Amino acid sequence: MQSGEAVVVGLDNGGTKNNATVLDASGRFLIDQLIEIPSRVTEGPDVAVAALVETFDDVLRQTSVDRARVRAVGLDTPGPSSADGVISSKGSTNFSHPGWRNYDFRGALEKRLSLPVVYNNDGNAAALYAHYKLFGPLAPQRGSISAIIGTGFGGGVIEKGQVVKGAAGMAGELGHVHIPTHGLLEPDQPLPHCNCGFDGDAESFASLTGIEKNLLPYWLMRYPGHELGKVEPVSKAAKLVRAYGENGDEMALRIFEQQAKAIGRLFTIAANFTDPDAYFLGGGVVEAAPRFREWFLTKVRENTALREEQVRASRFEMVPHLDMAGARGAAIAALERVHAR
Ligand SMILES: [Zn+2]
Repeated sequence: MQSGEAVVVGLDNGGTKNNATVLDASGRFLIDQLIEIPSRVTEGPDVAVAALVETFDDVLRQTSVDRARVRAVGLDTPGPSSADGVISSKGSTNFSHPGWRNYDFRGALEKRLSLPVVYNNDGNAAALYAHYKLFGPLAPQRGSISAIIGTGFGGGVIEKGQVVKGAAGMAGELGHVHIPTHGLLEPDQPLPHCNCGFDGDAESFASLTGIEKNLLPYWLMRYPGHELGKVEPVSKAAKLVRAYGENGDEMALRIFEQQAKAIGRLFTIAANFTDPDAYFLGGGVVEAAPRFREWFLTKVRENTALREEQVRASRFEMVPHLDMAGARGAAIAALERVHAR
């Protein structure tokens, strides 16, 4: 590679760690392994921005890339935040230090680095990476939807290769889309509640929090004497449900089947909204045992009601390399910006 060729840097800011990558103008990632540096977000914005600058310097050192070659930086963080990277005025799980409220994270990093910084929330960044990884050069002509199941429900909507952000930056909040519950809930099952205040949205079913607060307590009533009923507290039991599912435990499989149905119903809504070329599934399930993962993806597909033309035109895939997806998606967004100029 020429010494003067342009590159962009992707910085993924997480609750405990920063992760970084470098992307060249041809779309090649110069980093294969995970680069992690403590994110120090709990110590407030000044310390965290300094930690990101350190991550930036570190990834350039590791790739032997001269700083003068960097044209832009992509930043992604957990939400909630504005489309332009201003952290929510209410704070959030990851940004509980009072200094974060209404903090312009993107602007602050841009100032410190003296480089253009492009912002996305982590779900959108991972969705963008999945999209480009699957479609390659055709990515700018394709649309996709990603459901990333973790503690909450993240992801995003991509249309013609671009993250759909919306007027207030709140598009693609798929976890808080209400889904039809008829035939999804058992006759005696209460409507699940979400931390956002809604009842019966996608996250209230399909998230670790949804298992802990809603699904597990109900299904333990249906399976009295189940080993997980003896695990305290319920948050600990919730984390064990996946391992039980991988081992074929009937109750765990019913919980995951209910999650898969909920995701399928959300994808059905997407099919009628943006009719995407790809439906991505990511999160903990990607790291699960292959047989269980395939079973789960099949259940999601079975519960997504597509028309025949849509079945032929679309595909179901897993979000690849999830631990690197945020940094890589952030870098892709930065490269798009450079190309657009
Ligand atoms: Zn919600």
